Amino acid sequence: MAIIITDECINCGACEPECPNTAIYEGADDWSYNDGTNLNGKIVLPNGKTVDADKDHEPIDDDVYYIVPDKCTECKGFHEEPQCAAVCPVDCCIPDDDVVETKNQLLEKQRFMHPEG
Ligand code: SF4
Ligand code: SF4
Repeated sequence: MAIIITDECINCGACEPECPNTAIYEGADDWSYNDGTNLNGKIVLPNGKTVDADKDHEPIDDDVYYIVPDKCTECKGFHEEPQCAAVCPVDCCIPDDDVVETKNQLLEKQRFMHPEG
């Protein structure tokens, strides 16, 4: 499953640079699939969704840092544990029960975004 940032976030910014998938954004910032990945143009994600990787999307949260579920792999393929949760001083990076994925699905997602390894 993806990790989600709760409203307890104090906007310290410690997690953002730690994310290997560039899945974390500051509140009120736009996000895109292309940021920090190899994705470009019209693509079909491993979950079957067709998206424009270059398009800027509205922020998921306007007040605190947020995680884009489609880009979060729980750090699978890069690290043993979620790096955002490891550095967060208030422990507000928690599993998102609404976005449940298997380890294989997470690894497939990671390879899709970073095929160069
Ligand atoms: S778990 Fe890893 S991939 Fe997901 S948002 Fe946190 S740092 Fe990024
Ligand atoms: S490390 Fe935790 S408190 Fe700091 S910005 Fe990230 S989620 Fe918010």
